[in-house]
Amino acid sequence: MTLTTTLRHCIVTIVLMSLLGTVIKRYSPTLIRSRIVKPVTPRAMHIQSIPMWEGSSNNYAYLVSDDKTKEAVIIDPANPSEVLPHLKAKTDAGFKLSKIINTHHHHDHAGGNKEISKSYDIPVIGGRDCALVAETPSHKSKFSIGSINVTALHTPCHTQDSICYFLEDGQDRAVFTGDTLFIGGCGRFFEGTPEQMHKSLNQVLAALPDDTKVYPGHEYTKGNVKFAKKVLSNDAITKLDEYSQANKETQGKFTIGDEKKHNVFMRVDDPELQKVTGKTDPVDVMGALRTMKDNS
Ligand SMILES: [Zn+2]
Repeated sequence: MTLTTTLRHCIVTIVLMSLLGTVIKRYSPTLIRSRIVKPVTPRAMHIQSIPMWEGSSNNYAYLVSDDKTKEAVIIDPANPSEVLPHLKAKTDAGFKLSKIINTHHHHDHAGGNKEISKSYDIPVIGGRDCALVAETPSHKSKFSIGSINVTALHTPCHTQDSICYFLEDGQDRAVFTGDTLFIGGCGRFFEGTPEQMHKSLNQVLAALPDDTKVYPGHEYTKGNVKFAKKVLSNDAITKLDEYSQANKETQGKFTIGDEKKHNVFMRVDDPELQKVTGKTDPVDVMGALRTMKDNS
């Protein structure tokens, strides 16, 4: 190799090194900044909706799993023929099903427990009247699904054994509300009073963080909006109306914060609703709204 060639190589290397230096200087602050601002944290909590009796009672079971520990639970698996294939797929994928969880004892929520238990020998966690119940968690007690933290919230009224389950995985929050809270509505007062529903919705569930996603026991949103529009008009109700017209499923798409705006049963202090019901006390407004909805 001649001296000229070696010199040429050196110059080319120096030029390339300085170019590389410029590129690193130019882009590294952005790279470092983007890493600090948006850390890549894999989401561990997965919620799979399983529609049941679609077109008639439009129930939902939910298969909740934790990616970190491969633990999974099934919430309200009322119709085994529609649920079992999903459970099999999940366990075939390496997950361990640890619990059946029920929101209340009604047949279209807890009616599948016996059949599911034949295939999976796991405990039933739920209200005191649920089939095969092994444990009824007390109000505000906590348990876990792998790394997901669960808080049981007693919300009696639709039934006396109604329990909602609040799940937290870091910044990811969800509440499974059975027939207590629906998107834009609430369950019928089969075993309870307007006072109990007022407490369940507007004290217990309303106290959850506003960004908590709501997963109810039924897809009833279209009917709920139809009633809401008769008694109240606001932007949130218009938005919910548009969404439910365009989308068949609404579970997990709205939050507790949204419910406070578009759910008339969570707006019992709204002057327009006081006017339309002719009541001022929030419990009386709740009772009057439920009667109007039942008769609509
Ligand atoms: Zn029910």
